[in-house]
Amino acid sequence: MITSLRGFRDILPPESDIFARVEAAAREVFGLYGYQELRIPTLEQKELFVKSTGDTTDIVEKEMYAFTDGGGREIANRPEGTPGVVRAYIEHNLGQTGRNAKFFYIGSMFRAERPQAGRYREFEQIGAEHIGNPAPAADAETISMLVRLLEKAGVEGCSVVINSLGCAECRKAYREILLSFLRTHAGTLCEPCKGRIERNPLRALDCKIDGPKLAQEAPKLALCPACVEHFDGTQRLLGAAGIKYEVNPNLVRGLDYYTRTVFEVRSTALGSQDAVAGGGRYDDLIRSMGGPAAPAIGWAMGVDRLAMLLKDKAVIDTAPKAFVIAAAKEAGDKAFEVMTSLRAAGISADFSNFALSLKSQMRSADKSGASFALLIGEDELKAGTVAIKPLKVKGEQFTVAAADAPAKLKELMR
Ligand code: ATP
Ligand code: MG
Repeated sequence: MITSLRGFRDILPPESDIFARVEAAAREVFGLYGYQELRIPTLEQKELFVKSTGDTTDIVEKEMYAFTDGGGREIANRPEGTPGVVRAYIEHNLGQTGRNAKFFYIGSMFRAERPQAGRYREFEQIGAEHIGNPAPAADAETISMLVRLLEKAGVEGCSVVINSLGCAECRKAYREILLSFLRTHAGTLCEPCKGRIERNPLRALDCKIDGPKLAQEAPKLALCPACVEHFDGTQRLLGAAGIKYEVNPNLVRGLDYYTRTVFEVRSTALGSQDAVAGGGRYDDLIRSMGGPAAPAIGWAMGVDRLAMLLKDKAVIDTAPKAFVIAAAKEAGDKAFEVMTSLRAAGISADFSNFALSLKSQMRSADKSGASFALLIGEDELKAGTVAIKPLKVKGEQFTVAAADAPAKLKELMR
């Protein structure tokens, strides 16, 4: 038997309904905030992620599904969505359309990490990117949109954590201070951190092993006046939008390209994989990728983790309203016709196999969870009628003209 790959999973009903519901809520909220969908490819040149996400990040260093294709090209399955959006923005001059460059994407991401609850090798992200607006209002809008989306999707009990990582200027000074601190502590660091502090000292603060301790002891980043003003403005507007948040100076996030505001949404209900969504500003990334100087901010949320939070909530009832049964051999064609007319009238309908016994078809009707069984036997066939039998509520079976069945059911469903 061939099974699915480790860390890759089938999303079965009813969990697949939760995914669909979250996606629908997201599309609705994105519409309210002026976002348009961008469908980016799953495969990209590996270099895109090395250059943007950064080669000292876990995602690129350890978790990327990269391979050389038949033509000798270095390819990678996207581990995150932002690099693809940025590439598309530059490639198609999306800053020149005259419309706000606000994009969302929905799709699979791939990371070769150790599978566990809430951590898969293929997982779904819904993400948003707002390119071209440097103002704190963009930060506040982005974060509040994320919170509204989670509310709309029915997620409760999440907390928002924010921080500012400063701009390139504040970071330059901090890099030296942090690096000399880390050098004196190099002996106590984990092996990967020892290897990368010279290249990217900030990464050590985000390390799952060293991070928590270092965050307590390491010198803190001092923001320049412009970054202080930006962070204050963001917080003021978040307050105005009614968003509850907490400032945590230890939040650094794992990617290279963040500047100024970074944020994460967490849920205690998730246990150790508690991050539901994360994001931040990336004011220098687009220029560094060869594009125009366009400040930007975005986030991504993990739908698999949201589905875990929502799994106990009532799922959509996917049972058909009507289950059509042929109670005589010759009635099959008529039953099929009635079923077609129900669906044309917007009434969900299903059947099993018209050639089976009445008893067997009735059993399938019960199992389907349908509200009504519609039976067509010899008598009904002759008279051009349908017998309607309520399955979920008490009530007698009755007969209507076949042509009136859709209207009658609609009346009963009201
Ligand atoms: P974590 O700290 O849990 O590894 P991350 O910082 O790597 O998260 P991001 O790159 O910020 O995650 O991705 C945004 C969201 O995508 C996360 O908050 C999470 O909900 C989801 N996510 C990330 N990696 C996985 C995964 N392997 N499986 C399922 N969901 C994931
Ligand atoms: Mg991760």
